[in-house]
Amino acid sequence: MRTSTEELLTQRPDLVLKLQGCIDGALRVLVESGHFSPTDCDGIQLPIYTPSQQARRLLDHVRSKGESASLVVLQYVQQSLESESSLEQTNPKFVKYQKKLRSSVSAQSRFLSTYGGTSHMPLDDIYTEVQMELPNNSADNYKSMGFEEIIGPVGSVNDDADTVLASGEAGSGKSTWLQRLHLLWSQGKALQDFLLLFPFSCRRLNSEQRDLSVQELLFQHCCWPDRGQEEIFQFILDHPHLVLFTFDGLDELKQSFADEHRICCPSQRAPVDVLLFNLIQGSLMKGVRKVVTSRPEAVGPALKKHLHKEIHLKGFSLSGIDCFVRKHHSDPNEAAKVLESLQANTALLGLCHSPVLCWIVSQCHKELLGCGEGSLQTITDVYLMILQHFFQHHSTVKSAMGVNWLQENLGTVLHLGQLAFEGISNSSYIFSVTDMETCGVTESDICMGFLIQSKDMSLANSKCCEFLHITLQCFLAALFAILSRNTGCSAISKLFELQEMKKKRLRGTCFGACLNSTNIPNIVKEHSTMAETPNLQITATFVSGLLSQRYQKLWIQCSSSVLVEKKTKQAEKCLSKGMQQHFRSIPQPVQGEKKSMHAMPEFVWLIKCIYEMQNSRLAKDAMSKLEAEHLKLTYCNIGPVECTALAYVLQHLKNPVGIQLDNNSVGDVGVEQLLPCMHICNSLYLRNNNITDEGIHKLIDKVIHLQNFQKIALFNNRLTDACTKHFSYLLKTRQNFLSLRLGNNNITAEGAKQLAEGLKFNRSLQYLGLWGNKIGNEGAEALANALENSESIVWLSLVGNGVGSAGACAMSNIIRNSTSLEELWLTENCITRTGVESLTQALKHNHHVKSVWLKNNDLTSAEIEEMQQTDSRLVF
Ligand code: ADP
Repeated sequence: MRTSTEELLTQRPDLVLKLQGCIDGALRVLVESGHFSPTDCDGIQLPIYTPSQQARRLLDHVRSKGESASLVVLQYVQQSLESESSLEQTNPKFVKYQKKLRSSVSAQSRFLSTYGGTSHMPLDDIYTEVQMELPNNSADNYKSMGFEEIIGPVGSVNDDADTVLASGEAGSGKSTWLQRLHLLWSQGKALQDFLLLFPFSCRRLNSEQRDLSVQELLFQHCCWPDRGQEEIFQFILDHPHLVLFTFDGLDELKQSFADEHRICCPSQRAPVDVLLFNLIQGSLMKGVRKVVTSRPEAVGPALKKHLHKEIHLKGFSLSGIDCFVRKHHSDPNEAAKVLESLQANTALLGLCHSPVLCWIVSQCHKELLGCGEGSLQTITDVYLMILQHFFQHHSTVKSAMGVNWLQENLGTVLHLGQLAFEGISNSSYIFSVTDMETCGVTESDICMGFLIQSKDMSLANSKCCEFLHITLQCFLAALFAILSRNTGCSAISKLFELQEMKKKRLRGTCFGACLNSTNIPNIVKEHSTMAETPNLQITATFVSGLLSQRYQKLWIQCSSSVLVEKKTKQAEKCLSKGMQQHFRSIPQPVQGEKKSMHAMPEFVWLIKCIYEMQNSRLAKDAMSKLEAEHLKLTYCNIGPVECTALAYVLQHLKNPVGIQLDNNSVGDVGVEQLLPCMHICNSLYLRNNNITDEGIHKLIDKVIHLQNFQKIALFNNRLTDACTKHFSYLLKTRQNFLSLRLGNNNITAEGAKQLAEGLKFNRSLQYLGLWGNKIGNEGAEALANALENSESIVWLSLVGNGVGSAGACAMSNIIRNSTSLEELWLTENCITRTGVESLTQALKHNHHVKSVWLKNNDLTSAEIEEMQQTDSRLVF
């Protein structure tokens, strides 16, 4: 017979799985039985560990406590399994319902609907991990997290709240991510602590007109229990922690989140949005976990205070793009060709970080490979490609699709365009047969593949449709706006005047009102609320792209050329006016500071529109009016695509500026996109932007020749020693370079030695920041050796680098010999008395140094007190 300790070893993988859902309970019995102390528990439950890591740590710890602790854990796991199966015996109706729910969730989530029009694609075959960012946990950023981890305590901002929000732009993969969660749960592969999962789509909930109770909401909108409704609902009420609700697309709900109308009684009927808000904020069904997805614009402070945590979905990483393309194409040669053409066109590669664009590019590989390198640059180019692709796919005379392809399909474009346009202006995304008839949408229009059948439960009997993706709806709406003879220039300007409209609080203004109402009926009059800004902005971006000079020929065949020209002028005027308004809002600089422009998100949007239009005259005109010396674009959600647009516009600036892009998702592809504007950049701030050595390599190759470029800040990226040789080269070559900040990366002694090589030949660097790397004594010695006689270095930080007294002694040489050093930061290292004494000695001969920071080193309080007396410039 095996001992319990042996049992623990042989069953370990199984136990890890089982324990994940009941770590708390297992720890409780271990404490109660005297095997664990509360400190043991704390060590295991540290929020940095995932549930499976916690389970493993628990087992390791139990083993070290011996046989009887092992027995306690084995018994506990056995008991909890028994109580689960007793639930099956005592409540067969519940178990039956659970099975029904599982299979309905599985059926709903097995296939990806974007492929619906052309082929069926199982989610399991195509799902590719997306990048995620936990705003409060920068260490783990951009990794993808398991669903257990997402629901778990890591990154929690409010332990009392039960709602996890996943936010991201349109097309960043939110719905697909949630669909994956549903699928894994239904397959028993994730979140098995939750016995029931109720998936909701806010888009579909919009069509619920009745007041409902929670029970009706669950059973009528998710899964109907064939027997024992009351019992099952009572079970849910009694075991909220075993239940998970998901709400996809909160931004698409017609009402925005409000905290006013509170209800807490589960049998009380209320409008669906009220129910939903009460569920999310927890006054209704407290303890039930909720996962909500939304675009960031819909997440205001009222919602934020009820969130357990928020994660940002950031689309595919570079390796994600690679992986997706390979999964999409069963023929590896075809995949390789697509990837090759992406490598040759980095603007397009940048676009592919967005899963929806990556999907289009993969879907249209034939068109992509046929159209020559570099010809696809803008988002509009990509959507025109899918438009053509769908038409091609359904063309009866396939090869005959010529230059007139748009003209040949103009009827379909206008019908679908009108449906899309009306939908965007009314926040409608699901269309009834009547809606479609009103816009003249025919059966053959539907067959083109842009529309898919909606799985709306409450309208189960009527055939409702929705567009494959919201961005496609925006694109078709934009096509309609420029092609329809019934939409005038005022429709164009309305699209671009969003912010102004908002500021004036013109609530209830309907975008549709500017249409000729006799020709364009409003689809859902009763719903005409203020249209959703983000969708109008996307539509306006497409309008800009479609009105680009390059496409004018296409429209001339299909619409009145005079009207299209007028619309083009109108769009240009709006963009230029928008930019000027933005510049006018720049406040005068505080005395002694640079004139700085803090960009608003609309600024980025306007710039993207100008880029889509590929109108360099417009870019030039706009930039000639900008007088700021510093552009601050922090936290603006800037990825590679935005970088392409920024560079396109900013390269026309008259005078050099500082460009501050901290806390965005620029990445290596984004860095490459910025290169065309580096000649007007004197300082580049890219803190926290997911940049690797590769991006730095490309950047330095460019800026090495640019005399304006003098400062760079790269705090908190993914740099290693491999980037330091490039910086070393920069330092050697450029004798007017001023500031290099590389804090919080992964640079070791080797990297510091490389930097030192460059520093030996440099006469200009004033600021060197290496906070939070791992250069140790060896690295500090190398740097000290290089900077010993520096006449330029003013500020040096080696905070948190594992530097000991040997390193501090080396630093003393800089203090002794450098004529320029003013501040030396050595906080959070392991310097002892010997090191500090050496620094003190060196300070005796130096009057330039203002302070040496030594907080949190290996010193006793008595030592600190004593040494403080010797020189007031030592800061402990
Ligand atoms: P969002 O909800 O953020 O607008 P979606 O999840 O609808 O974005 O994504 C749009 C399309 O992009 C999907 O229909 C799918 O084709 C593709 N896609 C998104 N995420 C993934 C993923 N993780 N793996 C594979 N394809 C994806």
